[in-house]
Amino acid sequence: MKKKQLVIFGLVVLCLIFGEKCPKAEFITQTQIIMTTTVTIVADASSRDVQEAFEAIKKVDSLMNHYNPKSEVSILNQCKKAKVSSQLKEVILKALYFSRITDGAFDITVGPLVSLWYRMEREKRLPTSEELENTLSLIGSQDIGIDDNNVWFKKKGMKLDLGVIAKGYAVDKAIEILKEKGVKNVLVNAGGDMYCLGEGPQGKWKVGIQHPRKTREIVEVIEISNRGVATSGDYHRYYTILGKRFGHIINPSTGLPVEDIPTSVTIIASDAITADALATGVFVLGPRKGMELINTLPQIEAMIISEKMEILISNGWQDLLIK
Ligand code: ADP
Ligand code: MG
Repeated sequence: MKKKQLVIFGLVVLCLIFGEKCPKAEFITQTQIIMTTTVTIVADASSRDVQEAFEAIKKVDSLMNHYNPKSEVSILNQCKKAKVSSQLKEVILKALYFSRITDGAFDITVGPLVSLWYRMEREKRLPTSEELENTLSLIGSQDIGIDDNNVWFKKKGMKLDLGVIAKGYAVDKAIEILKEKGVKNVLVNAGGDMYCLGEGPQGKWKVGIQHPRKTREIVEVIEISNRGVATSGDYHRYYTILGKRFGHIINPSTGLPVEDIPTSVTIIASDAITADALATGVFVLGPRKGMELINTLPQIEAMIISEKMEILISNGWQDLLIK
């Protein structure tokens, strides 16, 4: 190895390790800010094709960003009932599946809890038990109704938050577009939620897992091809209330920000949306229960770093290490 170049992309560090050979194809790298995050595409594709992939990501953002009052999900949140696009329906159905397999740890109906905790941060106080109970009564995916493309809420005040999976879904859509164009080798990275198609400039894509506390350090480098990757960490986003730091992921069953938290959870799955949803679900479940779940799921691997910096890996993780 003559030269090592590290490119930091959000939570997961992509590590392009250049060997002595010349790159086998012309890769282009383009970056745009979409979904309030940095989206980077590295591909052996034309600039025009890459541009179309970015457009696909922007389209997902325009449908699913609940902070944009004109998005489809915001309209559903305001009207409690709406005829939705097939893309939004697909994401909601997938979210219901992820809620089921994580026993409710991942839940897109957390919207009212997220708003409550943001408000507490502004008001510099903790919620009263009444506020917490009232908000908790609005949480639960079983209260989402779906029939054809009609979606409705069974309780007034429910709100969907697709913050976790919209990014993964957008990455998958970008990959879909590029595949349709015949592109074979691509990496799409939306702030740490990524998919690696085919190979990088030097064989399989190499992804470094960032140390959760020493952000310039890499815990491990893995090699992947045709897989989605997502990392959920406690170190980038949090609420600060009365001087105490609370994680940004909320346990839907207690309504409280997850406290006994893993420091970081990295999931490798067949697509980015699955990696994204399971990273959050495992974060809520905690290191032990989370790893138990991962080991029951085929084709899914995980690395969990606990609060005490203990590293847990799934049964097949070793196979991802560079040989
Ligand atoms: P990370 O940076 O850890 O990957 P994401 O940005 O993917 O986190 O997701 C964090 C957001 O997910 C929160 O800001 C909130 O909107 C939403 N969220 C919080 N808790 C849950 C949960 N239990 N299930 C689904 N979404 C959640
Ligand atoms: Mg995420």
